[in-house]
Amino acid sequence: LTSREAKAEDTIVRIGDVRVGDGTFTVMAGPCSIESEEQLLESAYIAKKGGAQILRGGAFKPRTSPYSFQGMEEDGLKLLAKAREKTGMPVVTEVVNPADVDLVEAYADILQVGARNVQNFALLKKIGQSRKPVLLKRGMMTTIEELLMSAEYILSAGNEQVILCERGIRTFETATRNTLDISAVPVLKELTHLPVVIDPSHATGHWKYVIPLSRAALAVGADGIIVEMHPQPEKAFCDGAQSLKPETFYELMEELKRMEYLL
Ligand code: PEP
Ligand code: MN
Repeated sequence: LTSREAKAEDTIVRIGDVRVGDGTFTVMAGPCSIESEEQLLESAYIAKKGGAQILRGGAFKPRTSPYSFQGMEEDGLKLLAKAREKTGMPVVTEVVNPADVDLVEAYADILQVGARNVQNFALLKKIGQSRKPVLLKRGMMTTIEELLMSAEYILSAGNEQVILCERGIRTFETATRNTLDISAVPVLKELTHLPVVIDPSHATGHWKYVIPLSRAALAVGADGIIVEMHPQPEKAFCDGAQSLKPETFYELMEELKRMEYLL
């Protein structure tokens, strides 16, 4: 169902007034994790002011260490709903556990499946039963073919509103957190009708590389980016090193506008 043979024309994923995959470049921005009302609302106003279309923020965090901050859970989801109310921006947030899909669905506009859960087939089946759009991230060790099979789980369960996300894969290179597989974009565009976005934040692990890789995303034909931004990255509970500070986020948005005009 994900293949071009099954459907030739591009799928456009609709989230309220936002269209992902319609030829425009969509920016999803916000903190890695929701930390407090003040932090999330501030992030939301910055995202909106910069011109992002969708607010991101994690309430359930899949952390490598069990001792790291695990997220605000339902309290975080409530804050996301509040941020949407205040700004009018749709929100994307990760669901980690199949048992939490109903809860997350009640608050989120887009359900995010994280890299670590790309082959959690119970989660994919459950999300396939939802009618909410899905942001499906490629795993750090999954091939493009495997990513498409994971998307197939969601589509075959009846949910066709899937956005694919390349967020960097594991290679021998250690200078960046992961290695952005930029060629995944044209390869996926050939194989599937689903929209493809890039996550330059998790791909590199460093805010300095986020603007250049975002430019690459636009140039290579991606449908958008999902980028981490924090009012005070040095104080972030999670992924501060790769989070843009507000002024760098505004700079990114200006650069993308200039580039879109040139392309
Ligand atoms: C995230 O978006 O915060 C996240 C955990 O990303 P990934 O699943 O790509 O590591
Ligand atoms: Mn993160």
